[in-house]
Amino acid sequence: MLGFVPGRSAGEYHTHADKLLMESNDARVRQICEWWQTPECWYAFESREGAKWWGENGGPTEYCKALSETMPELSSNVEYVSIELRSPCFFCAQDMFKNMEEKQELTVMSCICSTWYMHNQCRDKFTFPRCFKCNGLYSDTIIKESLQNII
Ligand SMILES: [Zn+2]
Ligand SMILES: [Zn+2]
Repeated sequence: MLGFVPGRSAGEYHTHADKLLMESNDARVRQICEWWQTPECWYAFESREGAKWWGENGGPTEYCKALSETMPELSSNVEYVSIELRSPCFFCAQDMFKNMEEKQELTVMSCICSTWYMHNQCRDKFTFPRCFKCNGLYSDTIIKESLQNII
């Protein structure tokens, strides 16, 4: 979709969208740029279920249907492999902590269904007020914690 590639960070999608929008202000371009700022769109590229879910929840219906048919089935090992002792920022995907013990000030963004951690400066750049899944307004809390206390 217009050069958006799955698996990048929200910050990279943001930069890419800015670039596209400087070249074209077409409504379809704006729509696609908006999609790629939302976790629902990234979710669609993670699995068949994700693609189906997005099609039924505000995503492009025909596109999601085609996408869900081309996505590989999730292997049952995936969840075990992805558990890591790190906590990337939801927006820029950089690690927020240098080690387990050091305390960092960061933003916790939460709604009814999810909790995300971000750098304080990244929170300012994330402009979507509502969660795509539960449609709840995000609430923000600034905390000062160490990695071992939040995982
Ligand atoms: Zn960040
Ligand atoms: Zn939610």
